[in-house]
Amino acid sequence: MTEQPGRCRICGAQSPELALAGLPGAFQDTYSLYRCRECSFVTTHPLPGEDLLLRYYAPDYWVRGKGRSRVFDLLFRARMAGLMHRLQKALPQGARVLDWGCGDGALPALMRGKGFEAYGLDKFIPAKVSPWLIQGDIGDDRLEKGSFAAITCFHLLEHLSDPVRDLRLAFDLLAPGGIMILEVPNISSLGFQVFGTRWQPLEIPLHVNHFTPASLKYLIGQIDHLALEKAATFSWRTSASSIVLSLFPKLAPGDMRRRNRGRHPLSWLLAYLFLQIGALPFATAEAALNRGEVLRLWLRKYDG
Ligand SMILES: [Zn+2]
Repeated sequence: MTEQPGRCRICGAQSPELALAGLPGAFQDTYSLYRCRECSFVTTHPLPGEDLLLRYYAPDYWVRGKGRSRVFDLLFRARMAGLMHRLQKALPQGARVLDWGCGDGALPALMRGKGFEAYGLDKFIPAKVSPWLIQGDIGDDRLEKGSFAAITCFHLLEHLSDPVRDLRLAFDLLAPGGIMILEVPNISSLGFQVFGTRWQPLEIPLHVNHFTPASLKYLIGQIDHLALEKAATFSWRTSASSIVLSLFPKLAPGDMRRRNRGRHPLSWLLAYLFLQIGALPFATAEAALNRGEVLRLWLRKYDG
């Protein structure tokens, strides 16, 4: 534990500085955060081993999503409406789309409903739950290079042990002209500054990579044929819930369902919703200062 992390996973620099120490895990494990002096990337240290990760990603990590209520589904659709609209504008009808890190598969299911040939990829889903949900990594042989018109990647990069390699592999899957929409928590957010170790998106030790705008820029700078089209620090999908869950962690929908035998009581769901509406002004204000809860990038793969 006293040992420092090795080279920065993003820029390769050595000797990061200690940012935070003594962060507790769930199994009497303890972590620190180290910040790279070159690119400002923050790493969890030490990295959890496979055995420990399997304890965290218990078999119900994603199956929990099966207990989604109708109200929750409606909320999900509402949050995703903007994204769907943009995808429909940017892509031809029936385009092949991959949701990398699809979790319970809600997003690819929604995309299929909108007429896309959508697939979901995730390492931690049961095998063979559906023909369009693939259990595996981004380097999986079943994924054909250059075959996808779009890849979405929401809140996955922070989990990966080699984000540079995996982002390169993902870009290989895109057809020339294809787009990628990427979103990660923003450790430079006002939310992190205010809540510190209580900031919900820290999720230590499952999140091993903590990005700042500069370190994310450094990361995408290492990918060939990549053009950054747009960057934002707000998303309807995550920003408000990130603030609410930092204040009231017990409202997390997955935990709520686990405590209530797979059901999400409507009263708590409504409380969660109203608190998010209350948190929206803060989420949009921090984004207006460019210090919002998330970093969302629209990337394009150019030809040549
Ligand atoms: Zn670095």
